[in-house]
Amino acid sequence: MSGCGNRKWVDAHFSGRIAASDELALRQHLPSCADCRRYYDLRLTLASIDPWALGAVERIGRGLGVKPRRNWLPLPALALATACVAVFLWIRPASHTLEPQPRGAATCELTIYRVHAGSAEPSPTVMAPTDELAFSYRNGCQKKRLLVFAIDEAQHIFWYHPGWVNESENPTAIGIASDGSPHELTAAVRQPLEAGALKIRAVFSNEELSVRQAEEIIRAGKPFAEAATSERVVEVRGK
Ligand SMILES: [Zn+2]
Repeated sequence: MSGCGNRKWVDAHFSGRIAASDELALRQHLPSCADCRRYYDLRLTLASIDPWALGAVERIGRGLGVKPRRNWLPLPALALATACVAVFLWIRPASHTLEPQPRGAATCELTIYRVHAGSAEPSPTVMAPTDELAFSYRNGCQKKRLLVFAIDEAQHIFWYHPGWVNESENPTAIGIASDGSPHELTAAVRQPLEAGALKIRAVFSNEELSVRQAEEIIRAGKPFAEAATSERVVEVRGK
């Protein structure tokens, strides 16, 4: 079985040489193609045990046309691979920066990317209503699940992860990797946003909360129990 013809985009993504237009096409293609999703997950697993593989932040950034501010030193997800890294560090080409990234051992973080005009900007402060948002996370606080949503000035709630497109469904918080390395969420999502301040929140928790349960908590103004929550405000400008 040769698989879907668009696997070439997955290969290009993981090699860090994908064109921005192909990266966007890949992100639009993944939700509808089980073959490419399986292949993507396989490559992701391989990348997590390969100390030469590009880190998630660099891969996403390159694919979406973002120049990383500094070289990302990929650290393996599995303790098993740690011994290999020590060896690889010595023989890694001198042109690469070997400055280790702080692991942020206990922190859970969400990085937001504003996707527009074939590029992606990390940690935006302003976006247009037509822009998509993509995300990567780092689960340093060792939680099992993640919710990503946004709240606008009129208290509308927009769901990014899990996606919630059908009113009759009640999807639950997505499962996440617990290794503390950066991981990308594979969809860039556009929501019908209006101008004004948009609070983008990530809730890392062990509970498999549904979107309806989460909305009850949000509307009651309560904190999420035993969860690590991060929030960023992005200004939505224009129509
Ligand atoms: Zn495909």
